[in-house]
Amino acid sequence: MIIRQDLCVGCGRCQPFCPVGAISFAGLKSTVDQVTCLECGTCLRVAICPVDAIEEHPQVYEFPRAMRKFFSDPTSTHEATGIQGRGTEESKTNDATGRVGPDEVGIAIEVGRPTLGMTLVDVQKISRALARNGITEIEACNPIHSMYANPQTGDLREDMLNERVLSAIIEIAVPFEKARLVLRTAKEVAKEVDGVFVLDIFSTLMPNLTIQPRILKLLEEEGLPWRPNAKINMGLGRATD
Ligand code: SF4
Ligand code: SF4
Repeated sequence: MIIRQDLCVGCGRCQPFCPVGAISFAGLKSTVDQVTCLECGTCLRVAICPVDAIEEHPQVYEFPRAMRKFFSDPTSTHEATGIQGRGTEESKTNDATGRVGPDEVGIAIEVGRPTLGMTLVDVQKISRALARNGITEIEACNPIHSMYANPQTGDLREDMLNERVLSAIIEIAVPFEKARLVLRTAKEVAKEVDGVFVLDIFSTLMPNLTIQPRILKLLEEEGLPWRPNAKINMGLGRATD
């Protein structure tokens, strides 16, 4: 985001709306620190500026700065996937898409620093740890899939690494037998990531609409507390036999 210096009257009203404190006074006018700004769009969306001095950065839709917007502005549509909100529907549409089959376990690793942001270096720590354990394929419809430079090492494209984002999600679907390895890898790499680290486990339900007992047992054995969360898309589901 930028603030037009020829228009800004220095009222300071926009500053409290920035979640990462990127807007501050420079002399009598406000300015945006371009390194800190995540391009989340909040300062523009709140329409607080009395003189319309806040404008989108001229390169916000150009690579690599566009990565900031795709991962931080919930109203933006991720170019790689065509999906809003960090570029993924996560598990929420699995009953319609069948991305995770009955014999698989879906695992999403969410990382980020609410109000602070992070760089994609933290995402790479996770992709590298997964690759070291032989997990080199993440969901094709997850935006991070298109950011891999080398799936065998988990390296992401170098020119993206320093882009700051609010949060990101890595998603994987693995056979049940491999789920324990992914969970253990996630627990290990969580120690290296400086920020909020959330594991989502998703699966198809049993015919009686309960969670597969083997998945709950796995979480218990791995010492992972869990909280059930469900979303049912009425009428969208397709039978998986
Ligand atoms: S776009 Fe978001 S991060 Fe950037 S200055 Fe505005 S509120 Fe702050
Ligand atoms: S709200 Fe507008 S005029 Fe006031 S400090 Fe922010 S950019 Fe400047």
